[in-house]
Amino acid sequence: MLSVLKRTFSWKLYCFVVLAGVLVILPNAQLMITEYIGNSLPAAIEHRQFDKLIALLAVQAGIFALIQLCIALNKILETQLSSQYKCLLEEKVHTKLSNVKITLLERSETHNQIMALSNTLQHLGFPLLKHLIQFAKSSLTIAVMLYVMRNVHWSVLAIIVTVSFLHVFAIRKYFRKQMEIYMQTSEPSRKAKYYAGLLIDRELVGEVRTFQLNSFILSKWKSLFFHIEKMQVRLTNKQDLLLGSLQMISQALQFMMLLILVLFTSFTVGTYLMVTQGLLQLQNMAHELVESVNRLQETSVYLPSFFKVMELEEEEQDERLLPFQGLKREIKLENVSFRYPNAASYALKQINIEIKAGEKVAIVGHNGSGKTTLVKCLLGIYDHYEGEIFLDGIPMRHYDKKSVRAHLSVLLQHFGKYPLSLRDNISLHDGEGGGHADRLLEAVRLSDASGFADGLPNGIETPLNPVFGDGVDLSGGQWQKIGLARAYYKNSDIVILDEPTAAIDPLSEDRLFEGMLAHLQNKTALILTHRLGICRQADKIIVMDGGEVVEMGSHDRLMSRGGYYKRMYETQAKWYVHAKEGDLYPVPF
Ligand code: ADP
Repeated sequence: MLSVLKRTFSWKLYCFVVLAGVLVILPNAQLMITEYIGNSLPAAIEHRQFDKLIALLAVQAGIFALIQLCIALNKILETQLSSQYKCLLEEKVHTKLSNVKITLLERSETHNQIMALSNTLQHLGFPLLKHLIQFAKSSLTIAVMLYVMRNVHWSVLAIIVTVSFLHVFAIRKYFRKQMEIYMQTSEPSRKAKYYAGLLIDRELVGEVRTFQLNSFILSKWKSLFFHIEKMQVRLTNKQDLLLGSLQMISQALQFMMLLILVLFTSFTVGTYLMVTQGLLQLQNMAHELVESVNRLQETSVYLPSFFKVMELEEEEQDERLLPFQGLKREIKLENVSFRYPNAASYALKQINIEIKAGEKVAIVGHNGSGKTTLVKCLLGIYDHYEGEIFLDGIPMRHYDKKSVRAHLSVLLQHFGKYPLSLRDNISLHDGEGGGHADRLLEAVRLSDASGFADGLPNGIETPLNPVFGDGVDLSGGQWQKIGLARAYYKNSDIVILDEPTAAIDPLSEDRLFEGMLAHLQNKTALILTHRLGICRQADKIIVMDGGEVVEMGSHDRLMSRGGYYKRMYETQAKWYVHAKEGDLYPVPF
């Protein structure tokens, strides 16, 4: 927060402070002139000499105009500074979130904290500074006004102070309650947003309408949304009641003030004019003071939500960490075990494997056997695993993550389908609109995407989402080819592909495998797959079950072993061929 404030110390801020100072002096000057005019009035009327009076009235009108000008200028500066600070603060928060540890993003608590901050961020930044300046300005103005009106009965001034403090304490309670509501409703709010989003989610709308889930989703959304609204309305009603009662008490106290003024004080015309004008100004200032104190209190209640998010643990970026220069010898996993934070059992149990540089390794196993978790540990997405992963004999944790990632290319099961052009979808990490044309065409060719890419209305510049601009949509298989092209384009020495052909038709699959083998020629590759045909081309097959490695070896070795892999392979193969008795099952592609 302070760094944001420091970065924006500009001439505009100095002007804002100077104008606030001028607005302390001018109202008091006006009060003094009013008293002077009042005291000059009887003599002027008696001697019918109005020159001095007119000059004084002109000065007073001039000061009034100057006050209005300062207020208007302050408002303009306030709007500009607010926007400037808002942009910086939002940038700071989003930059922070882009570096937060990935495992933290799997926790609902993290998302609740982020949601609470997004509700309160508007009150932080410039409003904080503005209310500090406003507090200083109104306190100073009140102090000077009290001095100027030092002849007024002390009880009048005491009443004004009492009313002001009544406000401060009552409103503080309201803000605390508001923060509680933000915290309590951040999870239901996120859920309500999710359900509302389902009704217009382009990818799910077909399923939602076919299964007629609309009313179910609507009722889920309604119960959450209405519950949140009810809480908010209850709080706002309480606040209105509180403010209404305070207004009534203030009015009663003001009546008492006037009574005291009339019954217990002796005053000249000038004093009377000054006091009535002064009381109004004093009330305004007291109101401003109370508001700034309330807003500062509000900010002090909201501020922890900012620090909670800013203190979220980030991915390690230690300059002392080693730079990874590329895999020379092997990746080695020694007794690697992993348990998800909310899970009862381990997703990976004592994994011991070695993958030599340049080896093509297939990882197979039933759903839920731990393949994706293993890959996520290798990618450094999860780093709280037990045991050790070595790259060329050095624990992966000792390397700078960015340098490791620079040598990794990946196609995950849930890969990005960005609403950008085909070019950017493939070469985005080179910057939007950039990329090397030859490498891009080669990646498109190897991933078998040339066929449909050439047919797009604007070729590789066609946006791939009909919701934005004149984009087009792609089929699941076509998207998968784009995901593969993205992995190929990066041209890293270690490539990890999770179910690269899950959505691909059999004819394309053949061409796709050829392209894949060509691309992976001099690379280390890990391919997670349920299509066991590719395993024949792999140097090594790792078979996983229940988070453990149950078999490891080449296709021929595992087939002759007659174990788990052979059973899986034969079960799959029989769907593709009419096996005659004694046949060896052929390759399914
Ligand atoms: P595979 O890729 O072989 O299908 P995964 O690695 O995705 O298997 O999952 C292994 C196990 O970990 C499964 O039992 C799955 O339910 C569990 N799992 C996966 N992701 C999470 C998660 N984020 N939190 C808790 N458990 C998870």
